[in-house]
Amino acid sequence: MSLRASVLAVDVGGTSLKGAVVGDDGRFLYQQMVPLGGERGEAIFERLRDLLDRLRQEAALRGRPAGAAAVITPGMDDRGSVMFASNLGWRDMALRDRLENHLSLPVATGHDVRTAGAAEARFGAARGARDFAMVMLGTGIAAALFANGQPIAGARSMGGEFGHMPVIPGGELCPCGQRGCLEVYGSAGGIVRRYRAAGGDPSLTAAEIAGAVGTDARAGKVWREAVAALGQGLVILTMLLDPALFVIGGGLAEAGEILLVPLRDALRAGLLWRAPPPLAVSTLGGSGALLGAAALGFERIGLGASVEEWGGGME
Ligand SMILES: [Zn+2]
Repeated sequence: MSLRASVLAVDVGGTSLKGAVVGDDGRFLYQQMVPLGGERGEAIFERLRDLLDRLRQEAALRGRPAGAAAVITPGMDDRGSVMFASNLGWRDMALRDRLENHLSLPVATGHDVRTAGAAEARFGAARGARDFAMVMLGTGIAAALFANGQPIAGARSMGGEFGHMPVIPGGELCPCGQRGCLEVYGSAGGIVRRYRAAGGDPSLTAAEIAGAVGTDARAGKVWREAVAALGQGLVILTMLLDPALFVIGGGLAEAGEILLVPLRDALRAGLLWRAPPPLAVSTLGGSGALLGAAALGFERIGLGASVEEWGGGME
């Protein structure tokens, strides 16, 4: 395998596919985002296949032929299949086999949030931490739990569904069918929906609602309830896992101190007899998941040694 190889990395989400051609030095040589407009099931697979074909052409144009592809998704198990991913409409999707057949290239697969968490541990905010949780606050909420340096996937790869922990018993209905789930209150999607339901300006994003807390009573109430629910969830994780830190990622993390200051207060208030773990914002941001995916791809083709050197080159 040439040292000038690249990996075609794709992060599959419910609203977009994010792709990159990543060199063996960890640099992104080309990036492309494909928005999804309500496609589900097989239609998303077709968009993914087309994106990988395009990335492969871009890699070749740059003289960095693809040695592997690496695709991360929600619900991915350790055998390259997605048992169930509600927001993709995928059920028993044998993704790795299908993509290897199409591309005639080795394909690495991973769970999206656990891959992003592993990247933070290797190259980002959780560097050196063996026990930590990566918490993604986006349209929904998910977490990746790491214990003794290893991600906890669970018996059926369904671990880390932090957003569907029922933090408010008998609370508001979640689209999953349960009541009082954390993401009903604490996700960006939940904050926007609850603010609109309270009669707030329907054009505001979650970050804008957070910014209006001092001047808009509806925003203040929805935001306080979001922070209280998130704090309750982190208190429970702290008691279970005793993490060295929490890394907060996803779109809502961009609210920065507006989120972190009250969340630290909520964590302190909920943990009376032990010190709360520190909260850190992801330093890799949206690139973390793709970087982690690319690492899986290089490892799949025996180039893991070059991945070991990426840490030194990242800020
Ligand atoms: Zn739920």
